[in-house]
Amino acid sequence: TMAHSEALLVLENFIAGKFVPCSSYIDSYNPSTGDVYCRVPDSGKEEVEAAVKAAKAAFPIWSSKSPLERSQILNKLADLIEHDLEAFAQAESKDQGKTITFARTVDIPRAVYNFRFFASSILHHTTECSEMASVGCVHYTSRAPVGVAGLISPWNLPLYLLTWKIAPAIACGNTVVAKPSEMTSVTAWMMCKLLEKAGVPHGVVNVVFGTGAKAGEALVCHPDVPLISFTGSTLTAQRITEKSAPHCKRLSLELGGKNPAIVFDDADLSQCIPTTLRSSFANQGEICLCTSRIFVQRGIYSEFLKRFVAEAKKWKVGNPSDPTVDVGALISKEHLEKVRSYVKKAQAEGARVLCGEGVDSLALPTGNQKGYFMLPTVIAEVKDESCCMQEEIFGPVTCVVAFDTEDEVIGRANGVKYGLAATVWSSNVGRVHRVARRLQSGLVWTNCWLIRDLNLPFGGMKASGIGREGAKDSYEFFTEVKTITIKH
Ligand code: NAD
Repeated sequence: TMAHSEALLVLENFIAGKFVPCSSYIDSYNPSTGDVYCRVPDSGKEEVEAAVKAAKAAFPIWSSKSPLERSQILNKLADLIEHDLEAFAQAESKDQGKTITFARTVDIPRAVYNFRFFASSILHHTTECSEMASVGCVHYTSRAPVGVAGLISPWNLPLYLLTWKIAPAIACGNTVVAKPSEMTSVTAWMMCKLLEKAGVPHGVVNVVFGTGAKAGEALVCHPDVPLISFTGSTLTAQRITEKSAPHCKRLSLELGGKNPAIVFDDADLSQCIPTTLRSSFANQGEICLCTSRIFVQRGIYSEFLKRFVAEAKKWKVGNPSDPTVDVGALISKEHLEKVRSYVKKAQAEGARVLCGEGVDSLALPTGNQKGYFMLPTVIAEVKDESCCMQEEIFGPVTCVVAFDTEDEVIGRANGVKYGLAATVWSSNVGRVHRVARRLQSGLVWTNCWLIRDLNLPFGGMKASGIGREGAKDSYEFFTEVKTITIKH
């Protein structure tokens, strides 16, 4: 169904500093109403070719600018996005289904900060030097931008994750062709409108909209794109790895998770419960870092469960533009069905659904009856082998299970193919360090969640990814290093 009250928003690709229409388009839905409200270019080889050409042409000038010149431009862009923060937040909420509060306080401020952070960080790198006096030599390393970077991002944190790639890529002197998710393209398009004013030269940032299969794959297969930074699912990453193999591309892969929270019986539950609710249900559970397996030590298991479920029931689901709402709409009808199907499978296996899907009723405002909503759902008594404990669900569903010992819980927490983010709750400092060291996880938060210092590495182990991004890590990924030896 189409929203008749408003005109459709039609996006265009941004190539060589100009908006260019596409020959065909895909529909984009407002997840909170189920209406088509936007048309996104269905780009393919031809559009990607034009964008790569523009990025290649812009590379010599952009890469020869000083870090300070690039830094000033990134800061200007950050200011411009921040100036329009409310418009960006409204657009992100409408396009993605996330609450306006989350978009205002997390997505857009972080997109702004991504540019500010790398604008500053690029000024502080030094390269290595090593003296070999016995043979009269000095070695040093030199770093240079790689060329045209291909950047592919998912739908859950659209502008946030796209700028987490664009900012370091261009700060290092690369030019880029970015492909946001076809389901959430609007804020990337809005950002393109600010590039000229920020002083980003034409061709430095090109954005090609479209599907993964067409536009994404054309970018991955393009011989003049030596580097791909991808955030998305493990399945897509496998395909990207295969497709890029003939070109031996440099890949950074930030993938899915099946993140455990481990709650020991000495945990401060007054901190642990509200934070674990957030880590389970924030952004509808659509964050790669969301908790979906909560291991609670036997002695506090029933108390934890009682309090956790009582609090989960208080999370308000509804119109994302209502600032009092905690849970917005899921990204798509298909995704909602998939998330629901996991709850059904758990029930069929004999698990207990304590609140949410299939248990409580969801009352939605009249305008949102066709939106893709779901209540925060807590499942208990799930077996570790169950698909609900093994596969990434990526929705507002979390499983709570009991454990007895430290050794046991570490084995169980590590017993999945993923290894992205874990949280540990305990007031015993020794235990916290011990457990953190043994968890197979790129990030371990203890007694907190989602607190990030962008200086430090971000990324996953096992099926959660390859490579790390962060100040130094992104610098290394987005530059090519050379070792030079001088004999005197
Ligand atoms: P997805 O893999 O379906 O899509 C991600 C992007 O890749 C989209 O832009 C898509 O169009 C593109 N794509 C799809 N097929 C492609 C192909 N064959 N070639 C090139 N590009 C292709 O993922 P999604 O559903 O958009 O996002 C959710 C997933 O992302 C979850 O698994 C989540 O955990 C993961 N994620 C990871 C992180 C992280 O930092 N580790 C952050 C956010 C999301």
